[in-house]
Amino acid sequence: MSGTRHRHVVDLADRRALAAWRPADPAVVAEAGRLKDAALLDFGMTESAVASWLYAKCRHQVASTAVDTAAVVASGDGSVLLVYNPDFFVALGLTGVKFVLFHEARHLVHRHLFVEPELRADPVFTMAAEVAINHVALVRLRRESLPLLHGEPVGVDPVAVHERYRADLAGQGLPALDYAEFVETDLGVYTELKRMKQPPVPVALCVHLARDVPADQESVDAVVSSVLLNSLLAARRGHGGAESELLDLMGRTDGTSEQATRRWGLLGAGALRGTTASTGVVDWWQRWLLDVLASRLRPGERLVYPRKRGAVLAALGHDPMLSRRGPEREKVLVIALDTSGSIPSSVVEWMTGLVGRVEGVRAHWLSFDGVVMPFRPGERVLGGGGTSFQNVVDYVEGRLEVAGEVFEEQADAVVVLTDGYAPPVTPAEPDKWIWLITEGGNDWPDAHHPPMACHRVRPVTRTATP
Ligand SMILES: [Zn+2]
Repeated sequence: MSGTRHRHVVDLADRRALAAWRPADPAVVAEAGRLKDAALLDFGMTESAVASWLYAKCRHQVASTAVDTAAVVASGDGSVLLVYNPDFFVALGLTGVKFVLFHEARHLVHRHLFVEPELRADPVFTMAAEVAINHVALVRLRRESLPLLHGEPVGVDPVAVHERYRADLAGQGLPALDYAEFVETDLGVYTELKRMKQPPVPVALCVHLARDVPADQESVDAVVSSVLLNSLLAARRGHGGAESELLDLMGRTDGTSEQATRRWGLLGAGALRGTTASTGVVDWWQRWLLDVLASRLRPGERLVYPRKRGAVLAALGHDPMLSRRGPEREKVLVIALDTSGSIPSSVVEWMTGLVGRVEGVRAHWLSFDGVVMPFRPGERVLGGGGTSFQNVVDYVEGRLEVAGEVFEEQADAVVVLTDGYAPPVTPAEPDKWIWLITEGGNDWPDAHHPPMACHRVRPVTRTATP
C-alpha cells in the first residue's frame, strides 16, 4: 500500500523549502496573501470563531505550489502551518478562499472529534465528512452553491450527493430522508450513505483526499482542543457568533459518537447549553471556573494584520501575518496551591492542562502553607506546617519577598486551591480572587465581606461512570 502513496515534491513541514518550491509570480503570491488575510479577518469579526482561532495558531502561513489547494500541516512538534497554492487562491477569489479555508478548519475539528478507527478506514466516512463539512460551510457562509474554479464547482456538492442517495434508495424500494434530515448530524450523513447500494466514492477534490498531508493525531488534538476551548471562552463571555457556531457544532456531533461526546465533555462545553456532561469527567466546579476565568481574563480581542508585509514575509517563509493577536497584553494568572492539606493530584493536573490551553495568559504557580513557594508545574511541591492566606495575599500584592524577590506583576486573577482552614483574609481587589475549596474544607470566602468567588471542588475521577 505504501508504494501507491503520493510523495510530496518537498517536505511539507519544511516551510523554507515550501516557499522556495516553484514560487509563483510575485504579483500572484501577493494577491493570494491579500485574499487569505481578508478571509481570516472576516472569520475573526463575524463568521467563524473556530476558523479564526485555528488560523491564528498557524504562525506560519506559506504560499507554495507544492500543494494544489490548501492544507493545514501539523509537523509533529505540535506546531501547525497553513500551506496554500497562490494560483489556486487567486483563481478562487475571496468568496472561494473563505469557503476553502473554512472547509479546511472544519476538517481538523472533524478529525479531532471522530477518531474511531473503523470510521477512519471507511471511504464512505470520508465522503460523509465532505458532505457534512460543505453543508455547514454553505449555511454558515450563507452561500447558495459551491465556489467555482474556472467555471467548475470546487468540492463535493451535498445537494447532489443527497439526490444520488434518494435515487439509490428509491431503486432499492427503501424510504429516504429529506435533505434537512439527511444533513442534520455529521454521523447521520454517514449512516444514510451506508444504506446506499452504491455509496458515492470520494474523488480528489480536497487536499486530504488526494494527498498525505502530515498531520499526526496528537498535534491535531492539541491544536483543535485549544481552538475549541478558546471559542468556548469567547462564547461564554458573550460573543454571539462563537456561541451559535459552537452550539451548532455540538448539536451536529455531541452524542453521536463516544469519542466526540467524551471530547466535548472534557472541554466542559455542556455549560453552553446548560446541561451536564454525561461522561462525568467534568464536574460543575470546572465549568464554573472556566466561566469565572473567562470573565476575569477578558482580552482586548485585537487582530492585527500587517497586510503589506504579509505576502513578502510569507514568500520568505517567515511569520507572515498575525503580528499580534488576542489580548492587548498577556493576562497574568496566579494559581496558589495549599500544600498543608491534601490536594487531589487530578485537580492539579486538570488545572495545569486548562491553564496551558488558554491563549494569552501567563501563569505563575505558587505553593503555600506557612510560607509561599513559587514553582513550575511538574516540580515536586513540598508541604510544611501551618497555613497563611495572608502571606499569599502579601506576596501577590507585592509586599512579601520570597527568596529575595517580590512579585512585580499585576495579577488579573488569582486562583487559590485550599481546604480553607486558616484565618480569613481580605485582598485589596477581592473580585480578582477565586477560591476553590477541597472536599471537607471550610468555604468561608463564600460568606466573607466583601464576597469572593468560591466553589467546592471534587477530585476528577476519570473512571467515573455515566
Ligand atoms: Zn475536504
